[in-house]
Amino acid sequence: MGAHIEGSEAAGADVSAAGDGMGEDGRTGDSGAGRAARRDEAVRAAVEQGLLGPDTPIVGLLDVTGIRESAAELRVAFDAVVAPGTPVLHAFAVKATPLVPVLRLLREEGIGAEVASPGELALARTAGLGPEVTVLDSPAKTPRELREALALGIAVNADNPQELDRIDGLVRSAAGRSPIGIRVNPQIGGGSIEATSTATATSKFGVALRDEGAREWVVRAYLDRPWLTRLHAHTGSQGVPLSLMARGVAETYELAEEINRRAGRRQVDTLDIGGGLPVNFASDATTPTYAQYARMLAEEVPGLFDGRYGLVTEFGRSLLAKHGTVVARVEYAKSAGGRPVAVTHAGVQVATRTVYAPGVWPLRIAAYDAKGRPKEGPAVVQDVAGPACFSGDLLAEGCALPLLEQGDFAAALDTGAYYFAHHYAYNSLVRPGVYGFGPGREGGVAFAVVREAQTVEEVVAESGGAQVDALVGGLAPWGLS
Ligand SMILES: *Cc1c(COP(=O)(O)O)cnc(C)c1O
Repeated sequence: MGAHIEGSEAAGADVSAAGDGMGEDGRTGDSGAGRAARRDEAVRAAVEQGLLGPDTPIVGLLDVTGIRESAAELRVAFDAVVAPGTPVLHAFAVKATPLVPVLRLLREEGIGAEVASPGELALARTAGLGPEVTVLDSPAKTPRELREALALGIAVNADNPQELDRIDGLVRSAAGRSPIGIRVNPQIGGGSIEATSTATATSKFGVALRDEGAREWVVRAYLDRPWLTRLHAHTGSQGVPLSLMARGVAETYELAEEINRRAGRRQVDTLDIGGGLPVNFASDATTPTYAQYARMLAEEVPGLFDGRYGLVTEFGRSLLAKHGTVVARVEYAKSAGGRPVAVTHAGVQVATRTVYAPGVWPLRIAAYDAKGRPKEGPAVVQDVAGPACFSGDLLAEGCALPLLEQGDFAAALDTGAYYFAHHYAYNSLVRPGVYGFGPGREGGVAFAVVREAQTVEEVVAESGGAQVDALVGGLAPWGLS
């Protein structure tokens, strides 16, 4: 445990033998067979090496080889469509997997960071990401955050007119190295998931372009401010089809063209097209692929890639989701109303969206036996429950799997983004440890700690442990206590 994980060449050479990934050009997507084989090996090794067991009944696992592959696929996909020499920054949306070692790994693969809070910016800086590869977007930046970003020279996308006012004041005093843009909402409509659709008519993000007077306001804002050189839109997300995403990008491009026409110069020199490539949660296959999306953009918005505009992307889920697995021990196997229920240690604390909105965010579950081997046997319809004290705490309801028994393991697949990195402190359950896995120096699977498991002592400290008497003594006016 804790063994060093080798660099990309070694990892690629070792693991791509399973026939997955980069060999194909992404035209059809890969089947994910190599990734599934690596996952099975890792679960088994985690049990054998004692990472998982009765006293550590839940872990998050990250496939280092897979993350490197996805990063490479992203780079290759856009390199294939942009004019030679086009500046391209792929900024990983940190909110998808806010873990410092992950940001560092991606940095090594040529990927920067899109941040949306002081915490995310601090994670990116800790991972060694410089201002030139960092983009700050957020709908609620405070004056202090804006001042810090401009002082550091980080790219900033203003969300609305009030924020632009604040930036006006800062630009006058700051050295002004930050590339600055405005986020617009082309209002092209949402996808199948309301809560994560960003381009609906009433979305809270950006300047709503189709609202009365808004487009003209945006153009004037640029004409009045020669230092506004970027334009930003993020219209995709899970549930949004590629064609709709491409339309959002096309409308943003058209707006940049209009601004530049009216400015009589190439004032907007960089388009930030956001992220939002959806992820396939139904099988191991990677679909859609970055290559498909990049080719679609090249067909629908050819001017975008002809060399006149630099490009920024902000993918999150699609870079990490398929490389993460939550593995949880089956503490008890019982039966209720004739249906088998496996009570595991993974529930709402690691799969919050799935537990609260199972119809929208279903997860695949894989069954492993007590030794971490893929479980064999006839499929049995069963519930896979979590440890939290409410009845809806189910990772999966009525799913058909080999019957899970006490001491087996249930794995929630495709949970590398917006799942175990997004702990929800229900029932004061501790944050599970997160480990990266890959081929070890001496062969076999090796693990590295990405995030230590939280301890119960830390839970107490974060729950006011130092303020034990706060509410039973006399209260005092704020500042005098
Ligand atoms: C969340 C977010 C992203 C990343 O979205 P994914 O669906 O994870 O790719 C990119 N840009 C902005 C502004 C975001 O809010």
